[in-house]
Formats: sequence, C-alpha cells, structure tokens
Amino acid sequence: MRIDLFKLENGKGDFAQVYQPEELDLGDERVSLFSPASISGKIRQSGTEVIINGNVDSCVQVDCDRCLRPLQLPVKSDFSLEYITGSEYEANRTAELTEELMAVSVFDGQTIDVDEIAKEQILLQVPTRSLCKEDCKGFCPTCAADRNAGECGCSAGDVDPRWAALKDLMSGKS
Ligand SMILES: [Zn+2]
Ligand SMILES: [Zn+2]
Repeated sequence: MRIDLFKLENGKGDFAQVYQPEELDLGDERVSLFSPASISGKIRQSGTEVIINGNVDSCVQVDCDRCLRPLQLPVKSDFSLEYITGSEYEANRTAELTEELMAVSVFDGQTIDVDEIAKEQILLQVPTRSLCKEDCKGFCPTCAADRNAGECGCSAGDVDPRWAALKDLMSGKS
C-alpha cells in the first residue's frame, strides 16, 4: 500500500493495513510472517516534512540458532518516522549533519510506501540471535542428533581432538 500525499486532506490522514503472511516478503530468509501483520498509524505533512506515527503487530517465525527448530516470536512496536525529500536532505546536510537528520528517511515527496515501513519495523523487532529456549542444547557435533531429545551417547567422554593432542603433549606422549 502506498499513501499518496496529494490525496491527504489538510495534510493529515490515517492508514491501516493487514498483510497475510504470503503478502509481505520480509526480504530476510531467516524471518517469515507466522500470522497476519497489521500496521496502522497517522500521517501528517508539515511543509517539506512528513511525520508518521503508528504501530505494527504480528508474529514472525525464525529458526533457533542452535537446533534450527522453528519458533514464533510476537512482534509489537510503536514507531515514529520522519521523512523529507532528497533535495531537502541535501540542503540540510551541507549545513550540518545533525543526529536528528540522520534519523530521518528520504522519500520522493509524493508517496509513502507503507509496505516498506511494515517490513522495516517488523525486522527491527527480530533479535539477531534467537533460541527456542534459554538452555537449548542444539545438535551433537559428532552425530548431529538433536540433544534436546536426549543424550545421543557420543557426548560422554567425547574429547575435542585439539584437547586430546594437548593432553598427549603434557603427558609426554606424542
Ligand atoms: Zn533450539
Ligand atoms: Zn552424538
């Protein structure tokens, strides 16, 4: 969905959109929508600036970092965004590159892409590491069994070959 700024009444408007999981490609192979994502908010144009306040609500599916089991994470966030046109950005930038300016996004001055906002805001809420549970044991490096399902047997007494070599050295063998 795109918001056409020329259609806003008095430079103000509301928007709301619901995406089915297959309708919104998050552009990150680690993450997919598990349930429909909704986004809603208010848009306000003042001079060359556009301010958007809104929130997203969804549930995403990612893989556990250790055992690769899929897990679902609820995503809920409020956001506040500021857009200015490219020429406005350039004009400001030459004056002073403030922290405020770095937080704004550049747009074409005509339309705001709500799909892009939804994707960005959802991905921002996804942690870089995710575990199905705090103490997920992951896979056995030897036999690749899921160690959450029980001990596979090869972990007991299993010594990393590098340590084995070190042990031999220390005991005078080798
Ligand atoms: Zn796991
Ligand atoms: Zn094993």
